[in-house]
Amino acid sequence: MEKQIYLDYQSAKPVDPRVVEAMLPYFTEKFGNASALHKVGDIATDALEESRAKIAELINADSDEILFTSGATEASNLAIIGYAMKNKNKGKHVVISEVDHISIHNIAKYLTQQGFEVSKVPVDQYGRIKLGKLERRLRDDTILVSIGYASNEIGTIQPIKEIGLLLAEKGIAFHSDAVAAEGLVPIDVKEKNINLMSLSSNDIYGPRGLGVLYMQKKFRINPIMMGGGQEKGIRSGTEDIPSIVGMATASEIMKKEMSSEIQKFTTWRSKIIDQILGEVPDSHLNGHKSERLASNAHIRFDGIEGESILLSFKDKNIAISTGSACTSKTLEPSHTLISTGLLHEEAHGSLQLTTGRFNTNEDIDAVIEAVPAIVERLRELSPIYASKKGAQ
Ligand code: PMP
Repeated sequence: MEKQIYLDYQSAKPVDPRVVEAMLPYFTEKFGNASALHKVGDIATDALEESRAKIAELINADSDEILFTSGATEASNLAIIGYAMKNKNKGKHVVISEVDHISIHNIAKYLTQQGFEVSKVPVDQYGRIKLGKLERRLRDDTILVSIGYASNEIGTIQPIKEIGLLLAEKGIAFHSDAVAAEGLVPIDVKEKNINLMSLSSNDIYGPRGLGVLYMQKKFRINPIMMGGGQEKGIRSGTEDIPSIVGMATASEIMKKEMSSEIQKFTTWRSKIIDQILGEVPDSHLNGHKSERLASNAHIRFDGIEGESILLSFKDKNIAISTGSACTSKTLEPSHTLISTGLLHEEAHGSLQLTTGRFNTNEDIDAVIEAVPAIVERLRELSPIYASKKGAQ
């Protein structure tokens, strides 16, 4: 494969070579099972507990509040279904947001099939939740609110502190899918009053197929998978020690490097947004201008299809996306963009550029330089754009 310029870090990140190095011994000489009582097992147990502590530190949790899962999807299933089932006698109403990740929407759908009622909080044109709108959806039988920390598509960061305070006052559990925000926003679960939170290892340059459910000490949930009783009986299955060590190493690195990375990404983001909006007529920023992830630029071009822009970039060996990788193979427009009030055709004409650890200034310049000509060429072929311009 020819060298690719990669600005699709939201969909997948390479594992940091330092992480790979830390993982390697745990595939071979340190291969033990953390449940075994001999010395080979002890090495695995020590690695497991040290890893819990390192990940806890990244989000200001205690190490016994970290439970390992196969990814964020499983962590969110466990948090939402596990909490709902445990507390169904207290109430059967759950609230999520319109812009949550597809996994949360599908968990909510499952809950409604199980006799729960789910309300969705709308967002404003920037994809942000207004506290009053959330408050109006809370009822006496609301047991849980799940709001994504930030959008994995348009990058808008939610007012998590205010939401956490409101829910703490009302005694309603607060779950947040923090996958899009991890490593890009300093997360402090105590300060934000988050009770349950989903994380994914790959989003901080760890291996894929591992995630974490942060579960505050006083919280109790039901397991959704029965087995050998690992992870406090909440998530059975032999722990994947190499991946767990990988995620812990990734957390340690992230803790040290996050603030300088955020600065670097913010500079790139401003450059990408300012130059593209400045040079390409009829282009618009999706999401919030300032309350957005440092790595995310999400830009809409009138009159063209995101899919065709993507293919033009592909020809130039530039990897970018038009939205969430989790739903990119469906023809449906992004539910997030539709929730911000865009029409279907507008939602289809967007480009998502997400930067990451291994990008260079040259990558950013090459992408910025490529955009105007690609958009212009596609517009020349676009009957929608031509008719729109003709009508003006
Ligand atoms: N939530 C968000 C916001 C995501 O972007 C993703 C996909 N990376 C997930 C959840 C699912 O994570 P996983 O693939 O680790 O299950």
